[in-house]
Amino acid sequence: MPEQLLNDIRTTLAAARSQLEYLSDLGVETLRRNPAGGEPTQDLDATASLDETLDAIREDLGDCQRCGLGASRKELVYGVGNPNARLVLVGEAPGREEDQKGEPFVGEAGRLLDRILQAMGMQRADVYICNVLKCRPPHNRDPQPGEVATCETFLIRQIAAIKPQVIIGLGRFAVQSLLQSEVPISRIRGEWQSYQGIPLMPTYHPAYLLRNPEGKRDVWEDMKEVMRRLHAGAEAP
Ligand code: URA
Repeated sequence: MPEQLLNDIRTTLAAARSQLEYLSDLGVETLRRNPAGGEPTQDLDATASLDETLDAIREDLGDCQRCGLGASRKELVYGVGNPNARLVLVGEAPGREEDQKGEPFVGEAGRLLDRILQAMGMQRADVYICNVLKCRPPHNRDPQPGEVATCETFLIRQIAAIKPQVIIGLGRFAVQSLLQSEVPISRIRGEWQSYQGIPLMPTYHPAYLLRNPEGKRDVWEDMKEVMRRLHAGAEAP
């Protein structure tokens, strides 16, 4: 069997084991197949019952070696910001600078993200920023499905702990991973989706905007829609 396939199988098995251990911690004793096939069976209702803190989830991650990326990363990039944020932004994976510093979006794309947040009247400390993957894929290669499956368990728990009103999916990879879909980002950006029962706004990745500044206008439309939603949420009884 080719070595790459063997590695994929090992990573997928490790992900399945990690997921089963987590469900067992929740007291789940039987699993049922999701007939719709699209959405993961684990959802916020289940995770919320744990009432975990972000710190406890970080502790559980530890010196994570659940997939092969643990061996090549420098720093695990967990996430930063307000543990009670109403807005969570999810990117793809740490790049070189994030891997060095252990913080998401600290490179050029991160500086553009900071400017977008400022334009929305917010700062990093107001929101929570994280990625689908917590470790940098070597040479920034595309994340592999087994790596995503392993890491998503923790992302779901982080989101359950924060309970945001809105999630922004930054870029093709993050949006397709969260939605488990291959729909092109250009087709769904700006249109509300749902992740774990929370409204998800797909938009372009700031790194894409650095290469394609004409996309900034679309992103700003998306951010205005997010602000409207957050504002409406704040006014809800
Ligand atoms: N790109 C991402 O998707 N995430 C980061 O943290 C940095 C760059």
